[in-house]
Amino acid sequence: MQPYLWQQAEKYRHVYDTAKWYPIRAGVEFDTLCGITVAPTTKDLIPGLWLDPTCHECERGLAELAGWPPERLEQLRSIQAGRRPGDAADT
Ligand SMILES: [Zn+2]
Repeated sequence: MQPYLWQQAEKYRHVYDTAKWYPIRAGVEFDTLCGITVAPTTKDLIPGLWLDPTCHECERGLAELAGWPPERLEQLRSIQAGRRPGDAADT
């Protein structure tokens, strides 16, 4: 079992801690890596139907847990903000 997995719930794909919340069940709340509590629907549990957008906070949190260096994290933040690599960051 991987320590973290993705799960669609409440309009975003979030990351959760498998040690605490696996297996995810429809209608049962779980805490996400970004710090909110959500409950997936039956439809959210169907593989291949995860069409909701990725939660950016969960994505960054997972990258931090994976040990990404600061410059890669900043690159990810830029991509999430819709900037291309090399564009000036917002001030
Ligand atoms: Zn999230």
